[in-house]
Amino acid sequence: MHAENIPSLTVRKAADLLASREASSTELTNAVLNRISRVEETIRAFVTVTKDMAIKQADQADARIATGNAHQLTGIPMQLKDNMCTRGISTTCSSLMLKTYLPTYDATVTKRLFDEGAVLIGKGNLDEFAMGSSTENSAFFPTHNPWDGERVPGGSSGGPAAAVAAGECIYALGSDTGGSIRQPASFCGIVGLKPTYGVVSRYGLVAFASSLDQIGPLTKDVTDAAIVLNTIAGHDPHDSTSIPFDVPDYTAALGKEIKGLKIGIPKEYFVEGVQPEVRDAVNVAISVFENLGASVSETSLPTSSHAMAVYYIIAPSEASANLARYDGVKYGYSAADTGRMWDALDKTRQDGFGPEVKRRIMLGTYALSTGYYDAYYLKAQKVRTLIRREFDQAFDKFDAIVTPTTPTVGFKLGEKTSDPVQMYLNDIFTQPANIAGIPAISVPCGIADGLPIGLQIMTNHMAEDTLLQLAYAYEQATEWHLEHPQI
Ligand code: GLN
Repeated sequence: MHAENIPSLTVRKAADLLASREASSTELTNAVLNRISRVEETIRAFVTVTKDMAIKQADQADARIATGNAHQLTGIPMQLKDNMCTRGISTTCSSLMLKTYLPTYDATVTKRLFDEGAVLIGKGNLDEFAMGSSTENSAFFPTHNPWDGERVPGGSSGGPAAAVAAGECIYALGSDTGGSIRQPASFCGIVGLKPTYGVVSRYGLVAFASSLDQIGPLTKDVTDAAIVLNTIAGHDPHDSTSIPFDVPDYTAALGKEIKGLKIGIPKEYFVEGVQPEVRDAVNVAISVFENLGASVSETSLPTSSHAMAVYYIIAPSEASANLARYDGVKYGYSAADTGRMWDALDKTRQDGFGPEVKRRIMLGTYALSTGYYDAYYLKAQKVRTLIRREFDQAFDKFDAIVTPTTPTVGFKLGEKTSDPVQMYLNDIFTQPANIAGIPAISVPCGIADGLPIGLQIMTNHMAEDTLLQLAYAYEQATEWHLEHPQI
């Protein structure tokens, strides 16, 4: 097992190697650790590398494989974004506020993966509390794009996306509130899936905006996304917003013909501001669907163009409430030495939060305050309902909506840090799916100037099967998922 093979090694292939005893989990885990020691200095995708734990879990996995009782994820090294709780292992949210926080429990996704014998290789860097699109808001350090070290990997799941693309793990989990799985997947040339709101439990995911947050897989191909989703999806009594349903086998959707499926192309997603190479690559991808027998027609989603305005009221409002708990009393950073309670509270929050998090808290507090609540928060909720309805109507006519994932390829580090609105505009095409609660996936569909381009597919609530069916058909008809960065 060579470290150089890791960037192209999928979960499926790794599971085959382990099942046929061509490699052990210990060998695989050591190869991944070697790879990390070679490239991590330039990529910086990890807040923590959990080497000792990984070696121990690999050993346990080998024992389980020997009993013939293995799952597809048994013994396979993965990274978790550092906003998912891991018992006894620091979970920082890339914030000074939680720099020394050791959770006393595992998130449900962590537990589900551990129950299947997964190997945790480390915790992934992110924009502080998942607020951002480049990982430059991490309080520790930015992550670099494996395709070009001067470019951002996207965000906020930039660490997980870069780690997968650079071969520092076999797959990762990210969280997506407004695009944080799909946008970094697009920038790093991998697959990123945001499930229907409620399909994956949020228990143990540090809350950013609770009505939008959703956990999902970052993988090298669509098959792996289906395999990982099979394990993390499903009702959880610890999360009252998780949907009670029988989890299907998502891999069953792969390989089904897409002939006759109806795809809508919303014209609002092909406007000025979209990089010409991105537009062209997505148009070529659309013709691939046509050649596979899908029927493609132009449509319009005019209300969706308000998604960004709605997002930047609702997400900061929920964040301001969720982040009120960081008061330096029970856990996390505490500036308790000031002597007086209110001073301690002030100083804790002043030192503990970075500028973007403070901006969101101020925006949210303002939008929720007396006199402005109706004008901003309530209005945003009403427009949210209209956006949801618009998608409902679109899915009466279409099985899927296809768009670019992002308007541009990965930008340079430092290029957008001084202009928050330019940074926010990255998620203009991904936020509508969070507002409506529908599933969406980004798959690689081209390369411009040596940087990957992403194609976004959205389907109706709980139609992850159709989403994966279309993504897989596209992937198998093209070779973009086989391109890997040279590092
Ligand atoms: N970039 C968006 C934001 O800053 C989305 C982040 C996310 O999905 N977590 O809020």
